[in-house]
Amino acid sequence: MNTVRPRHTGSCFGVRDALQLTADALRAGGETVALGQVVHNARALEELEQHGLGRADQLPEAGGPQVVVTAHGATPQLFAEAKRRGLTVVDTTCPLVKRVQRHATELAEAGMAVVVVGDAAHSEVRAVIGWAGQREGSEVEVVASESEADRLPWRERRGVVSQSTFPQPRFQQVVARLRLRTGEVEVRDTTCPVVNQRQREAVTGLLDRADVVLVVGGRGSANTKAVAETCAERRPTFHVESAKEIEPSWFQPGQLVGITSGTSTPGWVVDEVEAACRDL
Ligand code: SF4
Repeated sequence: MNTVRPRHTGSCFGVRDALQLTADALRAGGETVALGQVVHNARALEELEQHGLGRADQLPEAGGPQVVVTAHGATPQLFAEAKRRGLTVVDTTCPLVKRVQRHATELAEAGMAVVVVGDAAHSEVRAVIGWAGQREGSEVEVVASESEADRLPWRERRGVVSQSTFPQPRFQQVVARLRLRTGEVEVRDTTCPVVNQRQREAVTGLLDRADVVLVVGGRGSANTKAVAETCAERRPTFHVESAKEIEPSWFQPGQLVGITSGTSTPGWVVDEVEAACRDL
């Protein structure tokens, strides 16, 4: 099959840096555990685990292994507790996620009810809630859709931030609904420009040309799912984690296969998927 790829695929700088910092920590030695998934890709994770990376859901006790905070970040309470226990923390929080945390903190400190637009169960959002909730009496709400925004009570002042990987057009739609339920709204658009660019390129560079689209990335990756949803609106789209999942029956002879990825997918995984398509 012939294939086409937009200009940008593979890991974003945030995920690449997080992987590098984790690999450096492993090389420096000592037992190391990650609080959550360092990267939403099974093969990349396996590689780190082969080099000794463990995984934990909670902070180890004092004297335990060094701890990797993933690119999605962690609450200030977790950093404080790690310090109290004397643990070494390898902080790989992406600078663009820190930007979300900083804006949420500022809005809360200005006395506004903070709204985080995103998935309440996602670790990035849980961490942002922790940053926004530090001030005594602060109020933090999470909404993932316009209908959830419609259910919020009236407030005089709200400050709004977005989960970094939330699709920007949907963020603006949710903000429009929040304006109907709030006297004064301060909006900080903290959507990630890398994700926004992927979304734009999926539309302009891929959907206008490809007959079928493969979106490569982990099933737990929010931004991979968002790119796949955008593509599925216009073309038959398949979300795959690796080349092994490709089914020849998805394609007709002579079709052009578009290949893109989420921001947490290593470039070599995208290369393998493209090579497998070319071999069909
Ligand atoms: S998607 Fe954006 S916010 Fe998330 S790690 Fe990559 S650069 Fe950072």
